[in-house]
Amino acid sequence: MAKKIGIVYCERIQDRSCIGCAKCYKAVNDKAFVFEEEDDLQMVFKTSCGDCPGLVLPKLQLQMTVLDSLGERLDAVYFGTCVKKAKAVMNCPMNLDGIKAKMEEMFKVPVVVGTHDY
Ligand code: SF4
Ligand code: SF4
Repeated sequence: MAKKIGIVYCERIQDRSCIGCAKCYKAVNDKAFVFEEEDDLQMVFKTSCGDCPGLVLPKLQLQMTVLDSLGERLDAVYFGTCVKKAKAVMNCPMNLDGIKAKMEEMFKVPVVVGTHDY
């Protein structure tokens, strides 16, 4: 059975540092970098963090409602490498560790930070 994943990107960086998000699509499709141990992957959503200061929790709550209405399952959420970069070099105001823990508690799926090294 395919592992169903969603990716959260940085609203300020997406489509600027990675035009068209081609890097994450390639990593998923090639099962490279953080996806290299996976057998079968399906991306069921890709959405932004909700912009600064990081409204990702209400955004993901709405995303889960949409997935439920479609009868879609979710097995894991990934913060794109753009979010990791935003935290490292752009003074991203999100408390990534805290939000990751909260998301895992609320949505009952593992949350991984970073997707590729392209
Ligand atoms: S790291 Fe991934 S999600 Fe973020 S902008 Fe690049 S391709 Fe898109
Ligand atoms: S800097 Fe952080 S909070 Fe702001 S848009 Fe990017 S990921 Fe979201």
